[in-house]
Amino acid sequence: MKIRAQIGMVLNLDKCIGCHTCSVTCKNVWTSRDGVEYAWFNNVESKPGIGYPKDWENQEKWQGGWERKPNGKLVPKQGGKMRILANIFANPNLPAIDDYYEPFTFDYEHLQNAPEMQTPPTARPVSVLTGKKMDKIEWGPNWEDDLGGEFSKRSKDALFEGIQKEMYSAFENTFLMYLPRLCEHCLNPACVASCPSGSIYKREDDGIVLIDQDKCRGWRMCVSGCPYKKIYYNWTSGKAEKCIFCYPRIEAGQPTVCSETCVGRIRYLGVLLYDADRIEAAASVEDPKSLYEAQLGVFLDPNSPEIQAEARKQGIPEAWISAAQNSPVYKMAMEWKVAFPLHPEYRTLPMVWYIPPLSPIQSALENGLIGENGIIPDVKDLRIPIRYLANLLTAGKEEPVVSALETMVAMRRYMRKKSVEKISDPASLRGTHLKPAQV
Ligand code: SF4
Ligand code: SF4
Repeated sequence: MKIRAQIGMVLNLDKCIGCHTCSVTCKNVWTSRDGVEYAWFNNVESKPGIGYPKDWENQEKWQGGWERKPNGKLVPKQGGKMRILANIFANPNLPAIDDYYEPFTFDYEHLQNAPEMQTPPTARPVSVLTGKKMDKIEWGPNWEDDLGGEFSKRSKDALFEGIQKEMYSAFENTFLMYLPRLCEHCLNPACVASCPSGSIYKREDDGIVLIDQDKCRGWRMCVSGCPYKKIYYNWTSGKAEKCIFCYPRIEAGQPTVCSETCVGRIRYLGVLLYDADRIEAAASVEDPKSLYEAQLGVFLDPNSPEIQAEARKQGIPEAWISAAQNSPVYKMAMEWKVAFPLHPEYRTLPMVWYIPPLSPIQSALENGLIGENGIIPDVKDLRIPIRYLANLLTAGKEEPVVSALETMVAMRRYMRKKSVEKISDPASLRGTHLKPAQV
């Protein structure tokens, strides 16, 4: 057993209001520089929608004639000599600048001095690249939110897999959720496996994935290799860049900028202990629907005295062992099973976890579609299709998502009974889905 510590993040999607504060504060601190105007280490996209970069979930499109190995590396499908040549001279499809949408700023003078009108905004955005006012914006990561429009083939065919095709247009018009995204600081990072220069590395002590700027040669295989498209090429320096999980702040005991500034308080940071020897097997599980459970199987119980003793023996600092014991990420992902990895079928074992939004439950509660005990009799009644959430978070497996939503309903009822109805009897508070430790 090779014990390692990993810092992770849970985002409660139920609480995200799509304000973009996290993206803007992250940008101001880390990517407000030449060459990365277009880059958002943290972005918030409207779902279901095409996202940022455009259509990033359409893995077939980006992989082209290449295939992904269980270690995360992309290799040409043909093999042999072609493989070597292709590795040297080619690169699977890369997103172009248009796929990130043209970066823009605002004509602030006009915005402030324009005469009052009935229908703001009155100023057209100004292109950062050309300095000219933009005639039109054809799409953006929140296009579906603001204006509606095109849904990608991926959204239609894969994310909606299993949902009747004639229902597409109804869903397009009836539900919306926000998905804040950042580098996943994966346990099995495809970017590390893809880099021909060996410049990307995963830190031994906290699992943060970084790019050595001195070693990077600008091959951009990492941009292709990352299934989440969370590596950006800096056009000025000629090097790749990515979210650094605010490591200088983490080292000083502070939260990441996105966590600290989050208006909805949706982000939780915590430490997980895992067995590095189990990663390869977990990433290679054949049936995609088993990948979520396989990912859980790499983590170790931080409350077990044997694990703690072994972790100490292997040099894990006492502070990290204690942080793992009190980790909200461990509690939500492992104990309560309410937080899930994003697209576990990409096999990189991502370390940013998401609590699915309760909003469909809320509307179902209001419409009397959920029993008094918090049990959902028919998941088809919910506004955001469970299948959609499962395709996003559990490689299509619905049961864990339903169970998580039921737990969240039970928690909501518990909080209401305790704080509004002032009930103090633990038995009556617990309901069906909460464990004694949660009450
Ligand atoms: Fe690498 Fe992409 Fe995983 Fe981040 S999300 S660690 S860039 S593979
Ligand atoms: Fe959502 Fe928080 Fe970002 Fe606002 S700051 S968009 S609430 S994650």
